[in-house]
Amino acid sequence: MQEFIEEKNQVPLIYDVDVLVCGGGPAGIGAAIRAARLGASVLVVETQGCLGGIATAGMMSHWGGRSSSKVMQEIFELTYEKAKDIGWTDENGCGHDAIYHDIQKIVLEQMFAKENIKVLYYTMFCKAVVENGSIVGAIVENKSGRGFIKAKRVVDSTGDGDVAASSGVPFFKGRETDGRMQPSTIMFKIGGVDYKRAVFPPSFETTIELPKGEIQALGKERLPFPAGHVLLYKQPTPNTVCCNMTNAIEIDGTDAESLTKGVFICHSQIVPIIKFLREYVPGYENCWLMSVAPLIGIRETRHFEGIESISENDILEAKYYENWVVRRAWFNFDVHNLTGASLDKTGVQKNWKQQSDYTIPYGCLLPKNVEGLLLSGRNISGSHLAHSNFRIMSVCIALGEAAGAAAAISIKQNKRLRDVDAKDIQAIVGE
Ligand SMILES: Cc1cc2nc3c(=O)[nH]c(=O)nc-3n(C[C@H](O)[C@H](O)[C@H](O)COP(=O)(O)OP(=O)(O)OC[C@H]3O[C@@H](n4cnc5c(N)ncnc54)[C@H](O)[C@@H]3O)c2cc1C
Repeated sequence: MQEFIEEKNQVPLIYDVDVLVCGGGPAGIGAAIRAARLGASVLVVETQGCLGGIATAGMMSHWGGRSSSKVMQEIFELTYEKAKDIGWTDENGCGHDAIYHDIQKIVLEQMFAKENIKVLYYTMFCKAVVENGSIVGAIVENKSGRGFIKAKRVVDSTGDGDVAASSGVPFFKGRETDGRMQPSTIMFKIGGVDYKRAVFPPSFETTIELPKGEIQALGKERLPFPAGHVLLYKQPTPNTVCCNMTNAIEIDGTDAESLTKGVFICHSQIVPIIKFLREYVPGYENCWLMSVAPLIGIRETRHFEGIESISENDILEAKYYENWVVRRAWFNFDVHNLTGASLDKTGVQKNWKQQSDYTIPYGCLLPKNVEGLLLSGRNISGSHLAHSNFRIMSVCIALGEAAGAAAAISIKQNKRLRDVDAKDIQAIVGE
């Protein structure tokens, strides 16, 4: 392949902040709010035109799992408070963990404004600037051009770990044995569902007998491969359902061509899925397409080398780490079939046995070879199977809170991140 040598480019310094947060998804939200509340100046750069990441731009159905995150509780309360007068109806029977996407975006912006957190939308983190083993800032690009943001600490909450990869933190992708990554999905919403007669299967293991056959078996038989499972969720607005049913396999979310291929595949499945629901599922006879998520949902990409790393055994044993920075984490092994529809043979959803929760140690947020940088959200250091659990949003937001607290504390105490005592982070993120 030919190379093109870019002209020497003098990049202006556009911001000088305490904490730069790259990515405004669940982890970025937790990180920015915690760091700002501890007095740090915080800037968030985000490629989308909203906060929330997969929760909003990815049009996720609900905040799943459990954790100690206090910010998540605040989000639930503020969102419900704002939404209840304009259409959130408890009569639907959907919990307050359901996501009212557009209200959620507004609430998050108001929370950020209250904390004086600066946000740059439509701005992409491009390149880490590392000096003598420490990250000192990042090059970003947006409509205004390229710019350098100087930062005392950087939180990588891009999901894929773009900052850590650019900083030279070693990583592997996907499953340890063959590098395969979990499938990707574009979420979409339908209206016109008759809730009184409709069914809402929340897991692959939920089977429901319908007049024309069992719902998951019908899906496998009738939907275009690799789609083939039926996952449907009530929404806060009347007669609306969020569908987690498109499915693209062998997609690499860190490769532009592959990402685009994933979008084309998922988009092509939407109309056949709606036709399927209208024909086979009672209550969906008159459903129609309301909206399609602008951001493709990438479940898994890079796993980084941290000072510590969390494994599936830690989760199965509900391990208690003294240096925890997230506690009361709980979810299942949500591994989607890496070569087709439904659940992978290593995955467990509804039939998950471990009811005790686990902790995540501070070292999972600290990349082995780069100072000044924190991993947070689904890109912390952990195994493929552990990741299938901690990638749930309630845990990701708690990971963000821990990263934001660590960043601010290390600045205040004038310490390297790796020298911060986890007890000081625990005192902030609390029980
Ligand atoms: C299809 C699907 C279904 C899921 N279902 C559920 C569910 O029902 N409940 C649940 O709790 N969890 C669910 N999850 C898991 C969960 O949504 C994610 O694991 C979680 O959102 C990860 O949080 P994060 O903050 O690490 O990353 P993300 O939510 O991915 O946020 C990353 C943010 O960074 C931005 N970004 C990325 N790269 C850059 C860059 N270079 N520069 C600037 N910004 C950048 C992105 O635009 C995004 O806003 C699902 C995931 C998928 C993909």
